[in-house]
Amino acid sequence: MHVDVVVVGAGPAGSVAAYRLAASGAQVALLERATFPRDKVCGDGISARALEILARMGLADWSQQFRAPTVLRLVFPNGQVLEGRAPKGDITCYGRVIPRLELDAALAQAAVHAGARLLEGTRVQAVEIAERNGVVVRARSTTVTASLLLLADGSHAPVTRSLGLVTSPPDLIAARQYVRGDAASPEEMEIHFNLDILPGYSWIFPVASGRANVGTGTFAWRVQRHAVDLRKAMQRFLESQTANGRRLARAVPESDARGHPIRSTFGKGRTHASRVLVAGDAAGLVSPLSGEGVAAAMQSGELAARHILTALENGAFPSPALTAYSRELRRRYAADWRAARFLQRALFAPQLLNHVYTRLQRDANLALLFGRVILGYQSPRLLLHPRVLLRFLL
Ligand SMILES: Cc1cc2nc3c(=O)[nH]c(=O)nc-3n(C[C@H](O)[C@H](O)[C@H](O)COP(=O)(O)OP(=O)(O)OC[C@H]3O[C@@H](n4cnc5c(N)ncnc54)[C@H](O)[C@@H]3O)c2cc1C
Repeated sequence: MHVDVVVVGAGPAGSVAAYRLAASGAQVALLERATFPRDKVCGDGISARALEILARMGLADWSQQFRAPTVLRLVFPNGQVLEGRAPKGDITCYGRVIPRLELDAALAQAAVHAGARLLEGTRVQAVEIAERNGVVVRARSTTVTASLLLLADGSHAPVTRSLGLVTSPPDLIAARQYVRGDAASPEEMEIHFNLDILPGYSWIFPVASGRANVGTGTFAWRVQRHAVDLRKAMQRFLESQTANGRRLARAVPESDARGHPIRSTFGKGRTHASRVLVAGDAAGLVSPLSGEGVAAAMQSGELAARHILTALENGAFPSPALTAYSRELRRRYAADWRAARFLQRALFAPQLLNHVYTRLQRDANLALLFGRVILGYQSPRLLLHPRVLLRFLL
């Protein structure tokens, strides 16, 4: 098969890119090793920035069937609890909780409706890039040739790694589990800054009445050096909820906890090469502060599509449009990622977090900003603005 663009990976990054490309008239093949509907280990917290892209894809009505939590509860290391309510005029500021089983199938379907050819059950095994002739992508069942290749193969990034565009391992790891028997209102989401996994956190995101996505994430190095056993940390978190008769006191796991690496390494790898672009987790575009990556995956998919369309229009390869993609990624994300890394190191210490609690408790607007940054709705740089820092200090 020959197409203009071959996209590897039909997660949010790949499917959004394939949708945009196909909707603009490009011939696109979207290669995915799994078969939809397929699960992806995730907290399912789909931020307001991601909802905006769903709306641009005509999926706004579809997304409204899923919960938009209006209460964010932050539990600090000393056990103090802070509750933030979404403003009346902005009830999706904490996003929606959309199981990835459903989100990713809907995105891939949107790409197909726009005209992309989705090849499921197709694991890409080898890629050859010939600067003059184009790209050859081989899977066991098929070979696809194209002018350009977009890699959206997630945090494991097997194909991106095989081309040497990413060399560092994923830097975060998280596990999640679905449970039934959540006694809280489905409007309430929780983030717990647990002492034993800092700088990381646990979450309870309500999927539907009585059903919740529960998870825990921290640095990969802490897990690798056995400083944290993620499964045990998850277990302890669930038990702490049960012991205190909290919302999960009667919760029953639907399945085992599943872990997955997260790549927040943006800036360490390359996001383009001759005839190739990289998007989403493969490009390290997960927030180092929150582990939120769906919105950036979708945004980078849209951005990649835009630059690929320019390159196709110009028809000359290697194309300056591919370099421009990397430049624009840096412009959009580099400062945010630096701020997020700084905040993660500086803030996620128990004493400091407890101090933050005392400030947020007295300043509702600051608390709302903090919650919005943690959930990826607003830039982490806002927390480092001198006026905001003063409000934390004074
Ligand atoms: C436990 C956990 C909780 C998280 N919680 C949240 C959250 O609440 N909110 C949030 O925004 N983000 C969250 N994230 C991050 C989020 O899951 C990712 O940022 C997001 O999935 C990135 O999308 P993507 O399209 O880049 O990659 P993926 O969604 O990983 O998609 C990559 C796709 O590529 C396919 N693929 C890989 N290799 C090949 C190959 N060789 N051939 C063909 N196909 C291939 C895979 O099968 C997969 O479908 C969480 C991550 C974890 C691990």
